[in-house]
Amino acid sequence: MDRGKVYLVGAGPGDPKLITVRGLKALQRCDVVVYDRLAGPQLLQETRPDAERIYVGKRPDRHTMKQEEINRLLLDLALEGKVVCRLKGGDPTVFGRVGEEAELLQRHGVPYEIVPGITSAIAVPAYAGIPVTHRDMASSFSIVTGHESPDKLDRTIQWDKVTNATGTLLFLMGVAKIGYISEQLMKHGRPASTPVALVRWGTRAEQATLTGTLGDIEEKVRAAGFEPPAVIVVGEVVRQRETLKWIESKPLFGWRVLVTRARSQASELAERIDDLGGEPYVFPVIETVRQQQPAEIARIHAALAEAGSYDWVILTSVSGVEHFWAWLAETRTDIRRFAKARFAAVGPKTAEALLARGVISEALPAKYQAEGLLDSLGGQLAPGQRALLPRGDLAREVLPAELTKAGVEAVELDVYENRLVVQEDDTLAEMLANGEIHAITFTSSSTVVNLLEALRRIGIDRPAEKLQGCVVACIGPITARTAEELGLQVTLTAEEATIESLLEAMTKYRAASRV
Ligand code: SAH
Repeated sequence: MDRGKVYLVGAGPGDPKLITVRGLKALQRCDVVVYDRLAGPQLLQETRPDAERIYVGKRPDRHTMKQEEINRLLLDLALEGKVVCRLKGGDPTVFGRVGEEAELLQRHGVPYEIVPGITSAIAVPAYAGIPVTHRDMASSFSIVTGHESPDKLDRTIQWDKVTNATGTLLFLMGVAKIGYISEQLMKHGRPASTPVALVRWGTRAEQATLTGTLGDIEEKVRAAGFEPPAVIVVGEVVRQRETLKWIESKPLFGWRVLVTRARSQASELAERIDDLGGEPYVFPVIETVRQQQPAEIARIHAALAEAGSYDWVILTSVSGVEHFWAWLAETRTDIRRFAKARFAAVGPKTAEALLARGVISEALPAKYQAEGLLDSLGGQLAPGQRALLPRGDLAREVLPAELTKAGVEAVELDVYENRLVVQEDDTLAEMLANGEIHAITFTSSSTVVNLLEALRRIGIDRPAEKLQGCVVACIGPITARTAEELGLQVTLTAEEATIESLLEAMTKYRAASRV
């Protein structure tokens, strides 16, 4: 029989970029991914669309799978011939029970690989500005489980040895035992003034840090109602945090931001959000596809055959440029046949896309929307001219109407169609319900319409209501109007219709709401 294979992969502490290259490759090629709560949900988007996803973590409403059952599941899947990715939080060998999973596979002769990950024990403090070692403060560190009951802790941890080490102590799974842990450390000689930090959900939007000393940390944890999962750091290195709080000082830190635009355009926005310290969550609700309707295709052919007759070619989106050029190629129309035409772009990105194809756009409108284009072209338009408008099927009517008013013949071509995309996503509904999506970006009216529809299709009733707690960020007034009409409360609108301007408005708003 065809034997499968199991990759036992460390997912890192939560930030989806903190997985190894080898781990990511395993995830991308697997037939099944078996995951739990500590492996970041965004990593699941890296799997093939047809890959099966099996959640084996805790769920309040259901029976939680025991370790033996998980071991058995991995084995069975592999015996069915599947390539399995067992995704585990942090590093699989650090309190990850990878030994038990691997042992059963080994016994049955199923091939497996252990792919290390970045353990939360090191990465989580690092994201809170605490390096686990330091030339002058700590020359070693120990990673200790705080999971056990006190008497078992006493048997497994040699408190006197742990305590006497000069190095940093890192406790995982220890929040509930913080009182007992600090008491033991003090009893065995660590001064009550020793700095302590608890970092919850490190490397994620929810990252939160509580600092204190061995003497007062239990009280502080109780007072703050500080909940797991957290890494507990004990030692002088905690003092570094005051100077090294790097990620927390970024403008969008603490925000998980939903990115709704087409996957092909989402990554740029997602990267910028990430740069600014936010956590992008990409959920594309739209995609553009080449025009498919025979009648419209015939119009495209006819229009391109008259290339020499146009005085203007006006492009209103990057997709418009891309698809227009694809049609030129398809119909073997040389761009030089538009010899008479001047090109105009709405927006700097569209102009850049033109420039990349060797065409310089006429003056850009100040506001980057259709209304502005006519102002900025003003004097150059003359009655009797012909303008070609290659665009998408959802393009607005303002531009052709205004051109017509100016006596210019506007030939609209739907070179592409916008389609609704509904990405399967179990975690998004959960995050929305828990208030874990902090902001939503809309970069066109169609992203608003489609998001609400996509949410309905993944089982969320009255989606506009569910989005009420989120900051709604719109790229321009038209998008904002659509959002309002559909029952959303728009929090902010970009001054100029660009991604940069949208991000600027978001950072400003965030700064004001943080103080
Ligand atoms: N194999 C994992 C640890 C599993 S034990 C690793 O190497 O990171 C689970 C414990 O890890 C949690 O109780 C918590 O103490 C810690 N942990 C994992 N991810 C964390 C995160 N993002 N923030 C804080 N603590 C985390």
